[in-house]
Amino acid sequence: MTNTRPIDSYRHNGLRKLLIRSIREKGILDENVLTAMEKVPRHFFFDSSFLEYAYEDKPFPIGAGQTISQPYTVAYQTELLRIEKGDRVLEIGTGSGYQACILAEMGARVFTIERQKTLFDKTSKFLITLGYNTIKTFYGDGYKGLKAFAPYDKMIVTAAAPYIPDILLDQLRVGGILVIPVGESDTQIMTTIIKTSVISFDKKEHGAFRFVPMLCDRAKEK
Ligand code: SAH
Repeated sequence: MTNTRPIDSYRHNGLRKLLIRSIREKGILDENVLTAMEKVPRHFFFDSSFLEYAYEDKPFPIGAGQTISQPYTVAYQTELLRIEKGDRVLEIGTGSGYQACILAEMGARVFTIERQKTLFDKTSKFLITLGYNTIKTFYGDGYKGLKAFAPYDKMIVTAAAPYIPDILLDQLRVGGILVIPVGESDTQIMTTIIKTSVISFDKKEHGAFRFVPMLCDRAKEK
């Protein structure tokens, strides 16, 4: 990540097309998800020495012990969100900002929370450099959600949650969808919750994925 807008080359564009084709072959059907992923240059979110890894369908370290999710995982979670233009979406776990950009490209109004200050600062600046001025970044603890801007149409948690926090469900509008990987072991079960009324929820479990843990409180600065 740099302070100047990075360059999207013909070669990167080609690699990205191949990546999107492979994600489509793995079963992602939502054309809006695929189009957004074809638009956002994933290599922008990598340090220049690792650019060659940006178009492999793998997660990658982004520093501070965190990772940018595997492209297929980003596509899978985003598809489950059934994004519509204008949706207010809360993301827990800003990380590199890549997922937030995919949502913004799909016309969502994105609010995203990160608990690590250094990462928060770096990503917030970078998103502005890239021109994603509509993505609102917050330094805080995702377990508390973001009451000031609730209710949300959709919520996405991009870290492994040991359980589904009630506060997030409170901040979801009736009819809204929460996508969250749940589990404390090596892998987590991707779970969707649809809020059917103020007190009732429809829960569905999907495949197993691997995320870094969703940790409590803001990280202590070293
Ligand atoms: N969505 C990111 C990937 C996130 S990795 C991307 O596209 O790059 C998970 C992120 O969640 C990490 O940056 C981690 O610091 C953050 N995180 C973990 N627990 C959190 C919490 N309670 N609140 C907010 N962020 C949290």
